Amino acid sequence: MSSEDKGRLSGLGWNFDNSYARLPSMFYVRLSPIAVRAPRMAVLNRRLAESLGLNGEALEGEEGAAVLSGSRIPEGAEPLAQAYAGHQFGVFTMLGDGRAILLGEHITPRGERFDIQLKGSGQTPFSRMGDGRAALGPMLREYIISEAMHSLGIPTSRSLAVVTTGEPVLRETALPGAVLTRVAASHIRVGTFEYAARRGGGDGARTLADYTIGRHFHGLVGAENPYLSLLDAVMERQASLVAKWMSVGFIHGVMNSDNMALSGETIDYGPCAFMDAYDPATVFSSIDHQGRYSYNNQSLMAQWNLARFAETLLPLLDSDQEKAIRLAEASIRSFPEKFRRLWLSGIRGKLGLFTEEEEDISLAETLFTCMHRNGADFTSTFRDLASDSLPADAPVFRDGAFIEWHGRWRARLARQPQSMDACMELMRWRNPAVIPRNHRVEEALEAAVERGDFTVMDRLLRVLSKPYEESPDTLEYRMPPPPSDLPYKTFCGT
Ligand code: AMP
Ligand code: MG
Repeated sequence: MSSEDKGRLSGLGWNFDNSYARLPSMFYVRLSPIAVRAPRMAVLNRRLAESLGLNGEALEGEEGAAVLSGSRIPEGAEPLAQAYAGHQFGVFTMLGDGRAILLGEHITPRGERFDIQLKGSGQTPFSRMGDGRAALGPMLREYIISEAMHSLGIPTSRSLAVVTTGEPVLRETALPGAVLTRVAASHIRVGTFEYAARRGGGDGARTLADYTIGRHFHGLVGAENPYLSLLDAVMERQASLVAKWMSVGFIHGVMNSDNMALSGETIDYGPCAFMDAYDPATVFSSIDHQGRYSYNNQSLMAQWNLARFAETLLPLLDSDQEKAIRLAEASIRSFPEKFRRLWLSGIRGKLGLFTEEEEDISLAETLFTCMHRNGADFTSTFRDLASDSLPADAPVFRDGAFIEWHGRWRARLARQPQSMDACMELMRWRNPAVIPRNHRVEEALEAAVERGDFTVMDRLLRVLSKPYEESPDTLEYRMPPPPSDLPYKTFCGT
């Protein structure tokens, strides 16, 4: 019997392969998640389970809760904690999975490979002072936001399940503990390269680079300078990812280099949030006092992380160090232009523009200036522009500068060969009606965590799964939060 057939015999449908565990041992520590007292399924993503070829019904049962809490190891899995490093708020640190275990890579019936990672699965050699555990609220929050991101069409890790552990975790108070099952193209981070280069020098980086190319950038095998091509390709994906974040008002919140995945997926949902009122300086993370990871800084920070990535590749780019540095610098310097092109293309879509004109940038900038001055809601403003008539109650639409802008924009639309209807249609596909607004997410978490009532979250998840649809029963989810003088904050101590 092949190992593939053996995996399939498990009633849950796992089909593990463990390519990461075949890397040199410096890249991980083999260990199992720590069993929990009373695993109970809190949410299961049946649609995701089934798209992965897993048995959704069986996962809902006792075996599913046992496996997805880390209390039972599924056949074929070779659990491990990944080693990595990273720059946290600019400072280099050795890290690693301190509260996560990679069960292995599940191969779907279509042959796709996904990391199956348990987050909150107990202490590991990388836990430092931490307890290795996670609280229910933050794990449900990651579930809601990552699934919303997926429905918005933004590359992201997915959430398969949240299982409560029956054990308290101690934060400021005792909170119910939980384990999140995260599904990702991989968990190779910029920080994994920083670790490889620090521990294994050029050979370490080369091993990891070859593995990464094999896993995510197949087209580069046999390229003239595969490592330079890898740098360019990773950069292109990050530029595209951050441009997509910007287009929906998403703020990652903690873009440390260990939280940036080479696959180009959004990972490590911590103090992230979607902005309501447009302000480019918005920061949600309670520990980000300098605004390092503010909305508008995200492309700069991505470039900064990519420079750290490039440094790890230097010995591979050229045997002549000066030349390697020149190649890396030229590559990194091309990031702002790459990003700008992708960002502008995103904004054009949001404004219903099929064609390109020189003045499109200034058209976008004028609108953003008006929005900022009037504290306009980011999501609603764009969505309203795609509707037949602008709501009279939004101050931004009464601003003289906006009224002038509106005329300019309509004239710009009229210069396109496409009909006005086609422009509005494009806008409705590029401007979500519903995003996971903070007050709605908080309300769902409160009901689930404080009262054990998951119906609020279920309803929210259902609406978020079709973010571009606008129906009367989603109205309450489209509304901005009631005005409040307390800015929304999220906390890293997740
Ligand atoms: P994060 O801020 O979630 O990206 O995590 C940064 C580092 O802290 C990673 O190495 C995590 O594994 C580790 N970490 C975060 N929370 C805990 C915890 N409760 N116990 C152990 N390690 C943790
Ligand atoms: Mg992290």
